[in-house]
Amino acid sequence: MTVRTGRDVLGIPGPTTIPDEVLSAMHRPAIQIYTGELVEYTDSILRDLKGIFRTEGRAYIYASNGHGAWEAALTNVLSRGDRVLVLESGRFAHNWGEMARMLGVEIETLEGTWRHAVDPAAVEERLRADTEGRIKAILVVQIDTASGVVNDIPAIRAAIDAAGHDALFLVDTIASLACMPFEMDAWKIDVTVSAAQKGLMTPPGLGFVAANDKALAAHKTADLRTLYWDWTAREGELHYQKYCGTPPEHLLFGQRAALDILLGEGLENAWNRHRLLAGATHRAVETWAEGGAIEFNILDPQSRSASITAVLVGGGFDVAAIQAYCLDKCNVTVGGGIGDLKGKALRIAHMGYANAPMVLGMLASIDMALKALKIPHGPGAIQAAVDYLGENVPA
Ligand SMILES: *Cc1c(COP(=O)(O)O)cnc(C)c1O
Repeated sequence: MTVRTGRDVLGIPGPTTIPDEVLSAMHRPAIQIYTGELVEYTDSILRDLKGIFRTEGRAYIYASNGHGAWEAALTNVLSRGDRVLVLESGRFAHNWGEMARMLGVEIETLEGTWRHAVDPAAVEERLRADTEGRIKAILVVQIDTASGVVNDIPAIRAAIDAAGHDALFLVDTIASLACMPFEMDAWKIDVTVSAAQKGLMTPPGLGFVAANDKALAAHKTADLRTLYWDWTAREGELHYQKYCGTPPEHLLFGQRAALDILLGEGLENAWNRHRLLAGATHRAVETWAEGGAIEFNILDPQSRSASITAVLVGGGFDVAAIQAYCLDKCNVTVGGGIGDLKGKALRIAHMGYANAPMVLGMLASIDMALKALKIPHGPGAIQAAVDYLGENVPA
């Protein structure tokens, strides 16, 4: 017995649901890459990305996933032997730091836990102790997709300023861009990294990096530069230099259509939509938690992210069985824990092209699974989520 025939619902924190308009825009023959239409695509995407990053700096598009964009950010501003401070709050900043280590950079980790955001006071203390200015850059993620935390980027910026430290500030917005407020210039972020397949609603394969003047100055002397990622090479006259080779043109067609959807909605409206869908998800999880087997991974409600909620399943209950029920019976793919949370958590994505029926349907499918598998949970979670939206989305 199942209730699964119907649209696939993808509830993992990336890749996310791709709008039909984006898929349709990609379904066309290849075009030439030197002049005309494709150059317009590049120019308009770069212009709109800068608007979404909220920067007057430079933006670059890579034929890569987010890991490629990480490498682009590191190699353009750092040199062998530089020290970087990694602000840990889950998995992703750590992995970015490991990438830097393999490039020949010295890594220092400001340890955190998987259940809390980065503590800005600890950042300030560490930077104050760096009297010789050894730390050249600071790496942090805005939303960590593994723990579900949102780090307070403006507060971390304020901590860097309070310490009077000159390090470059590099921020990963792969799971947060277009999902919550982000202000590259106002928050004095030197390098921002993102990718197409999460809040930006496009198939995986495009990485984005933005750089301000301070980053471009550091770039001049960075010795980790390689031709593929190099910003200077990408400023060349010829269109294909912007991609160090053939542009990933179908992804650009798709990304253009996705940006049209996003800007048609309005960036602030998209931020609000995510906040509301996260709020509904949090109500459901709070209610389930009354049963004792389920709890939020992130302890402070203020630090729970707008795009993904990580939910711990305790009491020896089987997370994989919940996921299997959701997929086999309801055709909903719910994310599982990764890293420290492997086998211990669900990761519920409310990211990108997601509306109330999609998120409520996913939550209701999880609720069905909890019932069917006899996992203790507070009753009325879906009603609580609906009530929250009814109260917060006025007629
Ligand atoms: C998904 C993600 C990445 C990795 O992106 P890929 O495209 O898988 O390489 C990095 N950082 C964060 C915060 C992410 O959510």
